[in-house]
Amino acid sequence: MHGLYVHIPFCLRKCPYCSFYSVRFEEDTAEKYVQALCRNIEAYEGRGLKADTLYFGGGTPSVLTAEQVGRVVDECRQVFVLDDAEITLEANPCTVDEQKLRQLRTAGVNRISFGIQSADDKRLGFLGRLHDFRTAENAVRAAAAAGFENISGDLMLGTAGENCDSLRASVEALCALPLTHISAYMLKIEEGTPFDTDKVRSMTADDELMSDLYLAAVEQLEKNGFVQYEISNFAKEGYESRHNNKYWLGEEYLGFGAAAHSYFEGVRYCCPPDVQRFIESPLQPKEVTEEAPDRAEEYVLLGLRLSKGISIDRIAELYSPAKSHDLKNAALELAAHGLVRVRENVLSLTAEGFLVSNTIIAKFIDILSC
Ligand code: SF4
Repeated sequence: MHGLYVHIPFCLRKCPYCSFYSVRFEEDTAEKYVQALCRNIEAYEGRGLKADTLYFGGGTPSVLTAEQVGRVVDECRQVFVLDDAEITLEANPCTVDEQKLRQLRTAGVNRISFGIQSADDKRLGFLGRLHDFRTAENAVRAAAAAGFENISGDLMLGTAGENCDSLRASVEALCALPLTHISAYMLKIEEGTPFDTDKVRSMTADDELMSDLYLAAVEQLEKNGFVQYEISNFAKEGYESRHNNKYWLGEEYLGFGAAAHSYFEGVRYCCPPDVQRFIESPLQPKEVTEEAPDRAEEYVLLGLRLSKGISIDRIAELYSPAKSHDLKNAALELAAHGLVRVRENVLSLTAEGFLVSNTIIAKFIDILSC
């Protein structure tokens, strides 16, 4: 079963920490873009492809009207077998009210993900967000009133002046809302963004504080019934993101829109980040990023992002029994330091291990590929 991803690269205003591709929202351009999306989706007609997720990401997909979102959903339903699909839309709290949320439900969206980021207005101001927490609260409650049961919220860790107490207060405020899923990301200063200055660096969490904040967030979220299932993702039982799980399980997906990535028929490719080119091209341009991804390596690389981890038996099949033995020994050493769990031939990272996941995964890949 495939996943479908639709990229909506429009934002009302650029946030100073963001390095995602997006341009300023303009109604005319957005309408032409939606038409180009439908044209590209239609190109897959007649192939009988099945999909069980459709994800509108951005940018800010909620700047589109519910009618435009509905048109894209309908096009997907005509072209793909899309029964019982999880259909997610990322939303900026400023761009929705209960009426629009009802229209989005009617259009087929059944999961909504709000970029809340913090419950503290000072931190939201620092991040250059357009909303205050009251607006975010109202948006989440309006989504519940409009019939959404599956509601996600993003939380940003490590903004200026944050400490473990203020972070716990933000987590509690989010947990008091009717959310079923929370993504908690560590603020990363991306090169070339307005945040890429020594001044901003000096104001935001250093590595030590960021580790404390992350572990505090994990603990507080778990206390509130949000179970960690991936480095940055937490869900109430039954509400893991089906779409994002596809990425981490190495399953295939088709991406539509400027800057959208795809992994389809064994090849990874992307559409260049250029809205005008996307609108003007009869079919979306394609740049191959990986001709033949190493599926064994990806199993380790992606699987260790998940709390359920990777199977040592599977490693023996993908590599060799001897390599799986070496890997298990290395994992047992790290387990003694509380970074890794080894249970019934399943190897996974602990919350402390997630903090140094890049180093651990590189070490494991080294063992497997030498
Ligand atoms: S709204 Fe989201 S995608 Fe747009 S600039 Fe802000 S963080 Fe980036």
